[in-house]
Amino acid sequence: MGKQRDVLPIVEKFYSLQGEGFHSGLAAFFIRLAGCDVHCPFCDVKEAWSDHFPLLPVEELVAEIVSNKAKHVIVTGGEPCMHNLDLLCQNLQSLQIATHLETSGTHSLSGSWNWICLSPKKNTQVKEEFYLKANEIKVVVETPEDFAFAEQHAKKVNINCLLYLQPEWEQRQKIEPLIVAYIMQHPQWKISLQIHKYLNIR
Ligand code: SF4
Repeated sequence: MGKQRDVLPIVEKFYSLQGEGFHSGLAAFFIRLAGCDVHCPFCDVKEAWSDHFPLLPVEELVAEIVSNKAKHVIVTGGEPCMHNLDLLCQNLQSLQIATHLETSGTHSLSGSWNWICLSPKKNTQVKEEFYLKANEIKVVVETPEDFAFAEQHAKKVNINCLLYLQPEWEQRQKIEPLIVAYIMQHPQWKISLQIHKYLNIR
């Protein structure tokens, strides 16, 4: 599995709007990297678990991003931290393009980030550096038990980290009213809706 800096395995790449968390609504170029060993049952990108995707030179990727109007790049997966992201971030930031990471925090961090979204997953160990550096945590809520899980992680993040609860898409009708009620009682949290799904865009 790649720890190379100059090529990355790409599942898909596209220019769209960020649908989740603090930057909801922001135009961004998405890079979905291959490989994930977390295997969440609710994962909606299970095809990204495998690492059998074409390796693309970072230079080529950056050239494509520049040819769009994107000023923000969101690196997601899979689990993007299974790869060395130093060169990608270096090249993007040198062009004044902001780098955003979406991670479960289970692998070591590489790259330089303007924004880190930590999305802790059950039965995994989040590495300490992610609690220190996360700009937001986003906890997917499937059942009422997940509020306690969210609070466990909220206790560990830095004081500036924003806190988001996001309804699991398939359970949203049942769980959304519980999230609304929870946030009204615990106003340090906000809701994150997957607005790209409501808009029927990628
Ligand atoms: S960490 Fe992300 S990509 Fe990996 S299984 Fe969980 S939801 Fe899917």
